[in-house]
Amino acid sequence: MEYQAEFLERIERTPAAISYRFKRAADLQFIAGQYMLVDLGDELIHPLSLSDCPEETGFIEFTKRMTGSPYCQRLEALNKGDTILVKGPAGKFYYEQPANNYLIMIAGGIGITPIRSILKSLEKKKQPFCRIILLYGNLNRDDIAFRTELENLTLPDYRLVHVLADITGMADAYQGLINADIIAREVPACSTAFYMISGPPAMVEALKKALAIINVAADRIRIDVFSGYA
Ligand SMILES: Cc1cc2nc3c(=O)[nH]c(=O)nc-3n(C[C@H](O)[C@H](O)[C@H](O)COP(=O)(O)OP(=O)(O)OC[C@H]3O[C@@H](n4cnc5c(N)ncnc54)[C@H](O)[C@@H]3O)c2cc1C
Repeated sequence: MEYQAEFLERIERTPAAISYRFKRAADLQFIAGQYMLVDLGDELIHPLSLSDCPEETGFIEFTKRMTGSPYCQRLEALNKGDTILVKGPAGKFYYEQPANNYLIMIAGGIGITPIRSILKSLEKKKQPFCRIILLYGNLNRDDIAFRTELENLTLPDYRLVHVLADITGMADAYQGLINADIIAREVPACSTAFYMISGPPAMVEALKKALAIINVAADRIRIDVFSGYA
């Protein structure tokens, strides 16, 4: 479907990640983890993941990494009541109960958006019945979007592991990039777990190689590539 969505609200998640909320059409159905095409006019169109989840009613939310691009400038210029064209939903990056009961979610920076949606949806639906570990990579502690919420999710068997390039003020985080060594240390029976990876192309490529090193078969990996980032 497509509709003109009315701009409601801007929420600063971090200095470089801003959420924009729009009115949700009554008949819009989506699965947590999907994206929409967000058309701001003048050929400024990008796919953006829905960072809200279907169980949060009344609005839809996109969270954009700010790059200073014309697209970002147009988002920042929105006034309450303005409308934009949204089309969708689309995408197959959504939750399915893993056969072996262990789901590892890996997010690089703004790649957290579909994962936030999935985890929030599972919390609201009082699912899952599987164990979840979220490995979340960012530059530093100020760059962690949705941090408080993700650290306080009330899921039955859930753990969040921060991996930061700069760990200043985050004693319990790993320093560096998410790699095979960190995954093997954090994930029991790591070669038989199921993985969902979301992030910019370079990060996704690096993670695919890391998972190959620890013998994770390709059919145990679901990927959302945020193409469009250098
Ligand atoms: C399925 C899917 C889901 C996605 N979900 C999200 C999401 O939830 N959130 C999100 O933020 N993105 C998401 N993306 C990526 C998004 O669609 C854009 O491609 C991306 O945000 C880059 O758009 P831009 O307007 O910032 O840069 P563009 O103008 O498209 O520029 C492309 C490149 O140039 C760089 N660039 C642009 N302007 C400047 C500048 N002034 N200075 C320095 N560098 C600059 C950008 O960083 C980018 O690397 C998703 C992509 C896909 C395919």
